Amino acid sequence: MTAHAEPAHAELAHAIDAMPLVDHHAHSLLRPPLTEGDLLDALTQAEHATDRAAVFDSQLGFALRRHCAPALGLAAFADGAEYLAARERLGFDEATRRLLQASGIRTYLIDDGHAPERLMPDAEFERVAGAGAGARTHRIVRLEALAESVMTHAVSGMDFIERLSTALEHAAASAVGFKTIAAYRGGLALPATKPTTSELTDAATAWFAASASPGTATAAGRGAGDPGASARLTDRVIIAHLAWWAMERGAVLQMHVGFGDPDLRLDRADPFLLQPFIAATQHTGGRLALLHCYPYVREAGMLAHLYPHVYLDAGLALAQVGANADTLVRETLDLAPFSKVLFSTDAWGVPERVLLGARTWRDATAGVLAAYVADRGWPVDEAIRVAELIAWRNAEALYGHTFIER
Ligand SMILES: [Zn+2]
Repeated sequence: MTAHAEPAHAELAHAIDAMPLVDHHAHSLLRPPLTEGDLLDALTQAEHATDRAAVFDSQLGFALRRHCAPALGLAAFADGAEYLAARERLGFDEATRRLLQASGIRTYLIDDGHAPERLMPDAEFERVAGAGAGARTHRIVRLEALAESVMTHAVSGMDFIERLSTALEHAAASAVGFKTIAAYRGGLALPATKPTTSELTDAATAWFAASASPGTATAAGRGAGDPGASARLTDRVIIAHLAWWAMERGAVLQMHVGFGDPDLRLDRADPFLLQPFIAATQHTGGRLALLHCYPYVREAGMLAHLYPHVYLDAGLALAQVGANADTLVRETLDLAPFSKVLFSTDAWGVPERVLLGARTWRDATAGVLAAYVADRGWPVDEAIRVAELIAWRNAEALYGHTFIER
């Protein structure tokens, strides 16, 4: 940074550090006890057994040593062994409380769709996150998980469709939005027209037949909770029906885009595949929040520029790219109107990911905006206003909720 950028940078960093954050896409934390292996696994998207070097000698590892070590009372850049020892010494509750509170996140929109049986219930997460900090959670319902749970109780394809409709309305009463992982279940090329009733009936009937495991099916179908009943939803018609339902209901639909786990085919997670669906749904009243987006942040920004109902974030990759997060934050500010950019951590399982998501966003945003001030003549108060839009104001406008008490 040039010398004349330093005063602007200090002012922006100070203002952005003080901002409350709405994390519009996060997951709950792993329940205790948390082993070293659990922690290391939760810090990477890789699914092979992870070693300390793979985690600590990475951008995320350096960011963790810089930001999380001081939250645990260590010097910045304490090494991995010291970090793990301090975590052990403090214990699960205290380490979790310190890391979450250092994030400054006030509201979490929680998606419980990934391995919920291993995660804390919302009330418990709120207790740990909120102790003394007043943090709150709201629910995002994952559509595929909801449909799968409905199918395990259904006695026919038609019965599934009826139960699904009731379950969706019931979920809508308490959720602030929905999420789809269509990218993982065949890809983002969703159809530009809503499936017809007969297409949906055929698809539900076929899925019911396929998911009724031999040996557990009876004349009346499967009973609730039959062991062995497998109901993984991969049917493209049903997934399209769910996405169209959310849009026509005028809901916010979060959509996984780009970077994810190894079971994602990256070439099917490119947001350009969504363009026909986006174009066809722009007058439904529904809104689409493209999640993560890395490495397709510029493509997502283009879609947010072109279509009134498209929003984006760059969560997940922010903490993973650490000191390179400036590039990512700058790309979110390329083509997307500033009112369409959201903050998220996509933290899953461990509080380090919460703090790192917040810290890397705050640091990178301060740096990027300071350069606009110093080099491009932006007024400092306008730069601060833009940061505040992304920190929480856009989320309140999109989800139609007051998340930050004032
Ligand atoms: Zn996520």
